[in-house]
Amino acid sequence: MKVTQAEFVISAVSPKQYPHGTLPEFALAGRSNVGKSSFINKMINRKNLARTSSKPGKTQTLNYYLINKDLYFVDLPGYGYAKVSKTEKEKWGKMMEEYLQTREPLRAVLQIVDIRHSPTKDDQAMYEYLKHFGIPVVVIATKADKIPKGKWQKHLKEVRTVLNMDPADELILFSAENGHGKDEAWKAILARAKA
Ligand code: GDP
Repeated sequence: MKVTQAEFVISAVSPKQYPHGTLPEFALAGRSNVGKSSFINKMINRKNLARTSSKPGKTQTLNYYLINKDLYFVDLPGYGYAKVSKTEKEKWGKMMEEYLQTREPLRAVLQIVDIRHSPTKDDQAMYEYLKHFGIPVVVIATKADKIPKGKWQKHLKEVRTVLNMDPADELILFSAENGHGKDEAWKAILARAKA
């Protein structure tokens, strides 16, 4: 897909700040530092629109990006950061659950994992949660450039196994470094945007 326009819309902390209207939304989920911002930037050909700002310790917000005035990427706060306080974690959980379970325009969650490592317990919990609530999910295994091509299949299999992925769910190999998997990711998104 040709991205001709991309803009940051809002850092929302509560549902009343979510944009009005019915444009399809695609939420990005993943542990802190997995590469969510880099994924967004690569997908929209921008160096730094999605700031690597949703950093641990900072206020946890849902960051909305409007693409071609057609759809939104919603960057969810990263999970699995040990130093976050219990209160912060509870706040995070409440906000995420509220969004994921009630947001009508949400078409799919793009769950980002690191291809180099076995999915973490938090990754497993997130995938299970999405399946439990019947929320469509596409898993993106990023940082493909960091492992040799000959190992891709083995690592992808590990991701499928450890997440206990539904065979019907898509798993896309991606690299924000060189754009590998970008077309496939857009294809998956657009198929769901129109659905
Ligand atoms: P976020 O916290 O999930 O938004 O993660 P960032 O997008 O800030 O990425 C965390 C770090 O991983 C940064 O140093 C990125 O440059 C790096 N990174 C992200 N994606 C890739 C990738 O596909 N390949 C490589 N080599 N590095 C990546």
